[in-house]
Amino acid sequence: MLRPTEGMFFNQLVDPFAVTSMDWAGNIATFSPELLGLKNAVYGDFILGNINRDRLTDMAHGPALIRLRQDIDAGVEMCRQGCEYFSICGGGEPVNKLAENGSFVSTETTYCRMTKMRATDLVLDLLDLLGQRGPELSDAGIRNLGAGLLAGEARIPVAPVG
Ligand code: SF4
Repeated sequence: MLRPTEGMFFNQLVDPFAVTSMDWAGNIATFSPELLGLKNAVYGDFILGNINRDRLTDMAHGPALIRLRQDIDAGVEMCRQGCEYFSICGGGEPVNKLAENGSFVSTETTYCRMTKMRATDLVLDLLDLLGQRGPELSDAGIRNLGAGLLAGEARIPVAPVG
C-alpha cells in the first residue's frame, strides 16, 4: 500500500465528537451521523445526552459513549490488524459495519469494498500502467488509461505520442 501502516491517519467517523450530530429535540450523537435517529437498545439509540439537559463534557464520559467507543474501537483494531487498506480507510464507517455485519466489532462491508478497496485498486492499477506505458503515450492516451481500466480494456492499445 502507498502509506506505511504506522503512518498518521485521521478517520473522523471513528473519533468521538469529530462528527457531532443533534436532532430537533436536542439529542446528541457522534460517530457516523446516520446513527442519530436509529433505534438500538444496546446503545441507547446512540443518544449520548440532550443539549437542553446535559453538559457536553458529561456526555463525553457517559455510559452510552463508553459502550460505543469500546465496540467501535474494537472494530477499528480488527481492521488495523487485518486489512491492507487500513492506511487509506482508517477503519471504516461504523454505521455500515452495524447495518451490514450486525456489529461494530467487524471489518469489511460492501460499502468499504466499493468506496475504499475498489477505488484504491483502480488508482494503484492506473499508476502501475502509467509507469509502464506513460513514456509512449500522448496526453490524450494518458487520459484514456483511466477509462480503459474502468472498462476492463487496459490492454487495448491507446493513442501513441505524436
Ligand atoms: S477498507 Fe473495510 S476492512 Fe479495510 S479498514 Fe476500511 S472498513 Fe476496515
